[in-house]
Amino acid sequence: MMRRYSMKNIPFLIVLFLLPLLSCQSSAEKTAQQSAVVAPTMVTAQQSPATSQHPKNPYYSRTDTTTLHVSDAEWKKVLPPDLYQVARRKDTERAFTGKLWNYTGRGTYYCAACGNKLFASDAKFASDCGWPSFFETFRKTAVKYEEDHSFGMERIEVLCGRCDAHLGHLFDDGPAPTYKRYCMNSVSLDFVPNSGLQVN
Ligand code: FE
Repeated sequence: MMRRYSMKNIPFLIVLFLLPLLSCQSSAEKTAQQSAVVAPTMVTAQQSPATSQHPKNPYYSRTDTTTLHVSDAEWKKVLPPDLYQVARRKDTERAFTGKLWNYTGRGTYYCAACGNKLFASDAKFASDCGWPSFFETFRKTAVKYEEDHSFGMERIEVLCGRCDAHLGHLFDDGPAPTYKRYCMNSVSLDFVPNSGLQVN
């Protein structure tokens, strides 16, 4: 009687022994499945501000600092019309109409044509001119300067150091410590807040 009882319970004991192993395997698989779902989402979230906002522009990069030599015809194909008019045709947006002229968010400003890092928000100041204004660039080589004699005025034009896009002009009426005013067109700038989400 005793022996028959033990034999009957052998399958039950085997199942009891295997249960923890099956449970571990299931947990590991679940973790792997979660990782497989989470990892691509995180990568996409980090890349999306640059790529999703400039799907037609293959020259846009916030990490590549290589100088660009792109034809005007090519820029016309890849840039939105309003940005093309300012960046390549040196047009100026109307004062107080741009998206960033009185914006005060904390983050970084990039060239909207190529992604070159141009200004930190710490260098932006409240100006009554109607365009986003900064007292210094992110680094010296971020921009280039050219004499501008158009419209009977003597001005200093500011261009992107990577793609030569027209950004605006430089004036000597800014605040301390530089007393410079980089008077920029909003359309020429992309703003990325410190949180990593883009404002456009
Ligand atoms: Fe640029």
